[in-house]
Amino acid sequence: MAMVCTYHPDREAVGACVNCGHLICDECKTVLGGRIYCSPCADKMFATRAETGIDRTEAGVLGAENTSGQGSLAVIPREIGGWNWGAFLLNWIWAIGNSVWIGLLGLIPLVGFVMSFVLGAMGNEWAWRYKRWDSVEHFKRTQRTWTKWGIIIVPGSIAFCIITFTIIMIIVNVTF
Ligand SMILES: [Zn+2]
Ligand SMILES: [Zn+2]
Repeated sequence: MAMVCTYHPDREAVGACVNCGHLICDECKTVLGGRIYCSPCADKMFATRAETGIDRTEAGVLGAENTSGQGSLAVIPREIGGWNWGAFLLNWIWAIGNSVWIGLLGLIPLVGFVMSFVLGAMGNEWAWRYKRWDSVEHFKRTQRTWTKWGIIIVPGSIAFCIITFTIIMIIVNVTF
């Protein structure tokens, strides 16, 4: 006897729900955190999660679906939020590295100054939407690296400008 779906007796089962053990077809299958659940069990889990403040977006985080890089279709995981220092500090350089092409506006004087704040606020969401990431962890790790470089490069180049300016002023004063 062929193994058939509990909910669709005309369809072949592709697995069993880890929660209730019912055989399920491809359509009834929901993968959460790498484990298979039937639709009723998945719905029940989502309902409990909704009460505890975890929603369907969290499913993406658990590895069920990673929609990064899909533009407006991408679901933004809850952990990805808040201020992006790397985007704020490195502006258009960060934007190129993260496929956030609107960030190229940062190259325009004055607009670029405003863009730093826009990128700081929106950077995480945009980077998740427009670039494909392996996982939330991969995303966060990469963004931490950008922040680190921003902290090194930006004060470094400001200090370089001040020192260069000071040296020029000293030379000018000594010469004239
Ligand atoms: Zn089940
Ligand atoms: Zn089914």
